[in-house]
Amino acid sequence: MKRKSALITGASRGIGRAAAAAFAKGGYDLVLNCVHSGQELNDFAKELQAEFKIQTLCCCGDVGSYEFVCRMFAQAADFCGGVDVLINNAGISYIGLLEEMSYEDWERMLHTNLTSVFSCCKCAVPYMVAQKSGRIINISSDWGIYGASCEVAYSAAKGGINAFTKALAKELAPSNVQVNAVACGVIDTDMNAGFDAAERRCLEEEIPAGYFAKPKEVADFLYQMSEAPPYLTGQIIAFDGGWM
Ligand code: NAD
Repeated sequence: MKRKSALITGASRGIGRAAAAAFAKGGYDLVLNCVHSGQELNDFAKELQAEFKIQTLCCCGDVGSYEFVCRMFAQAADFCGGVDVLINNAGISYIGLLEEMSYEDWERMLHTNLTSVFSCCKCAVPYMVAQKSGRIINISSDWGIYGASCEVAYSAAKGGINAFTKALAKELAPSNVQVNAVACGVIDTDMNAGFDAAERRCLEEEIPAGYFAKPKEVADFLYQMSEAPPYLTGQIIAFDGGWM
């Protein structure tokens, strides 16, 4: 019997890397992507293969490029037939005033954070619909719901992911493909490495749970969502320690 497979974008570090470990532990074959750290991703994939006796395929490239995403899914089709679970995780942040943001930075934010989700879903969905089964989980943010000052493009891209998630869930529910998003609060990854100790303490005090979640906590939740009853679809689930 074909083993289940998952494709995770942005899997070289942070939430994506932790998600790869969680799905490997669950016995999934994995297609893993990142943009720059190809060697690191390959080494990590080999560790997962050895520890969990799974198969992996690494595809290094920019998910903001539709052509790259098409090539990655073509390789995935050769590798495992098609993916059962898609985790759209790759993302970048930009902090700064809107009036100082260049058009090129806006485009890069939207391509990396939102167009990538369109491209990966477009490539993943035909197999899922044919199988009448599949799970898509998009990694979003509290800022996509509430908006953040100095993160207008990021908020817009994540808000776009939220609307995309709800709409695609309606389109695919008749085919038994579930689409949900996890809106993260503050997760302890390199994306937040810019905070100094005082800023970090201040932020921790604002979060009712009192700490930045570890990537593994998000990853374990993503795995649980992949096993949730199929009636759970079209939801934007906040994972933020009660922050917002
Ligand atoms: P991270 O910076 O630690 O890792 C980002 C990953 O995305 C890396 O593997 C990187 O290679 C990959 N990536 C970046 N640009 C890419 C591109 N163009 N093509 C392919 N891969 C690319 O970030 P993280 O904190 O693990 O964030 C993962 C997701 O969670 C992102 O979508 C982010 O917006 C979201 N998120 C994070 C937080 C947080 O507090 N860390 C909060 C809310 C949402």
